Amino acid sequence: MSQHVPSSPPDIRIPASLLPSDGRFGSGPSKVRPEAVAALAEASPTYLGTSHRQRAVRSMVGRLRSGLAELFHLPAGYEVVLGNGGTTCFWDVATLGLIERRSQHLVFGEFSSRFAAAAAAAPHLSPPEIIESPVGTHPESRPNPDVDLYAFTHNETSTGVAMEVRRPAPAGSGQALVAVDATSAAGGLRLDPSQVDAYYFAPQKCFASDGGLWVALLSPLAVERARSIAASGRWIPPFLDLVTAIDNSAKDQTYNTPSLATIFLMVNQVEWILAQGGLEWAASRCDRSAEILYGWAEASPYARPFVAKPSERSHVVATIDLDPPLEATAVTAVLRANGILDTDPYRKLGRNQLRIAMFPAIDPEDVAALTSCIDHVVGALDERR
Ligand SMILES: *Cc1c(COP(=O)(O)O)cnc(C)c1O
Repeated sequence: MSQHVPSSPPDIRIPASLLPSDGRFGSGPSKVRPEAVAALAEASPTYLGTSHRQRAVRSMVGRLRSGLAELFHLPAGYEVVLGNGGTTCFWDVATLGLIERRSQHLVFGEFSSRFAAAAAAAPHLSPPEIIESPVGTHPESRPNPDVDLYAFTHNETSTGVAMEVRRPAPAGSGQALVAVDATSAAGGLRLDPSQVDAYYFAPQKCFASDGGLWVALLSPLAVERARSIAASGRWIPPFLDLVTAIDNSAKDQTYNTPSLATIFLMVNQVEWILAQGGLEWAASRCDRSAEILYGWAEASPYARPFVAKPSERSHVVATIDLDPPLEATAVTAVLRANGILDTDPYRKLGRNQLRIAMFPAIDPEDVAALTSCIDHVVGALDERR
């Protein structure tokens, strides 16, 4: 079989009665609710293509900021800050504007390693302390008086491992910040905001919108840190300047032009979650999907949760290993041909695996339907062997 030319998938038709109502299970960009797209189309004549400095757009940014403050029960003094460039951009923003001298990074997958790499490459910082653990697990932070920012990842999207967000015990006299990449966790996993100083994410995962924006929930300590670093004279390019973003956000604006559609869809999702009961409702819905999916995998003769410890298994992104000779690439190709999209594993992980998003927009019943579809496909592939 050629490694280079993808062959067309085996012709296996999944019965319509088994199919989920929506076939989008990608971990980002992820399912956007059709109701949100319809609302955008309806609002578009007075919204899309209008100035981001005028009321229509600024009030939408205001709704985003107040909606997120409500969703996360932000304590007084916390700021909702946003800017263009997605989470990847925020790593550079934080490297320049939040790390004073030295950071500690928990590295347990692709995304957590990238912020560590950004900090390691920065000429103005001391080499970061990096604490690693094998993929499929997560390390624990260690209090270190030499560190002024602790970086974790709430949900490592590349491996399907989630960790609790908890402030390390104080070490030394200075106050260290806790910065958490919550790109795929925010809005789907529970959070105690008092445990974090910078909880940052992008809209294309639990917030069921499009990419390109970063959002950071900043504690008073984080805002103070950003202002003191900016005042210290460190060179910071204007686009990556956190203080510029803080000041613009306070006026319900961004430094440069944002995607208005992305903001609209995100507001729609935040307000939808709030109307259903808030973060606890969303997290419970993700719990239900996770129970269905991991329960199915544990009972399956050919599938298994990749993450060994149940307490570390993500409730928003599940990774499911398949036993050879069954090939995950064959399963995902047949699913795709039947309209079930993006169940492929994270490429660089290189495992015989399915990766399935269980974000709040995804109906737990669709997750259940997906498991029936996988069983059907595997049965049909077995018959051909
Ligand atoms: C998707 C993801 C990112 C990357 O987000 P971009 O907006 O594409 O930069 C970073 N971290 C985690 C945990 C993610 O899931």
